[in-house]
Amino acid sequence: MSTHYRVALLGHGIGPSLTPALHEQEAALLGLDYRYETVDLIGDPDVDLGALLTRLEGEGFAAVNVTHPFKVAVLDHVASTSAVVERIGSANLVLLDGTGDPGSPHRRAHNTDVTGFGAGLVAFLGDRPRGRVLQVGAGGAGRATAYALLDLGFDEVVVHDRDPVAAAALVERFAPTSGGRMLASEDDLATWVTDVDGVVHVTPMGMAEHPGVAFDPTVLREGAWVAEVVYRPLETELLRRARARGADTLDGGLMAVGQAVDSLRLITGREPDRDRMTEHFRAL
Ligand code: NAD
Repeated sequence: MSTHYRVALLGHGIGPSLTPALHEQEAALLGLDYRYETVDLIGDPDVDLGALLTRLEGEGFAAVNVTHPFKVAVLDHVASTSAVVERIGSANLVLLDGTGDPGSPHRRAHNTDVTGFGAGLVAFLGDRPRGRVLQVGAGGAGRATAYALLDLGFDEVVVHDRDPVAAAALVERFAPTSGGRMLASEDDLATWVTDVDGVVHVTPMGMAEHPGVAFDPTVLREGAWVAEVVYRPLETELLRRARARGADTLDGGLMAVGQAVDSLRLITGREPDRDRMTEHFRAL
């Protein structure tokens, strides 16, 4: 007898998301009976998230992925969190247990943005030095990438945001566990760009609604790399300009696929084929 999985993505403006197709195709190839639905709550600004989770649980949903603007708010409605979620204060996956009991210990929050980005970056970095890295952007996704950068053992993680309060808050969040390895860039971004082994770009710049670049990659030093999280489009102006400068680049697709791989594994207990999912993502 095969188990039937029902999963939902909760967020605002998620109609065009590629995640449902990514999950469903891989689940089908794993022989699973698996349905992934989107629940776009943009028209419901006062949604009662707790009641919604309880309803979905009652309807037999096994899990929900959550995206903007619920990644922090959802934590008020779970019984337990992974260690990563506890540290960064944000989740993108909640496992449900089908009982409809909001206090169930099985209603557990995870963050696969962290593990998804980390796995992509590890593969990309190979034996490149893990010295000083610059992260541009200190918003929601920036919490996940910052965790991964510290976890990957960089000596120094410099955080820049055009809002200095956001950069300082991120550094403060990690202060108890970063061992002094994370600092805010303060002001002169261009100087930092010339002085790091690599840059992780985590702002919306480069998306159709936010054209342009958050920093000038032409001043990168020889051998420095650029990792992007924007994946719509996959080829951002930043990546184009960084490659023209001779830098190696990682596009945002690896994080998008990585979070789906790790979500699917946590939901089903089965091992997805990362290469196959990457190929599928790039064909979507
Ligand atoms: P957010 O709004 O929470 O944070 C963005 C941060 O960038 C803000 O702090 C803002 O002040 C800063 N910023 C904006 N423009 C800047 C600039 N020019 N220079 C410096 N800082 C600037 O957004 P978020 O949730 O962190 O998402 C950021 C991007 O990450 C989005 O474009 C999203 O598409 C992408 N993302 C990708 C994945 C993936 O799987 N690849 C996952 C999550 C988010």
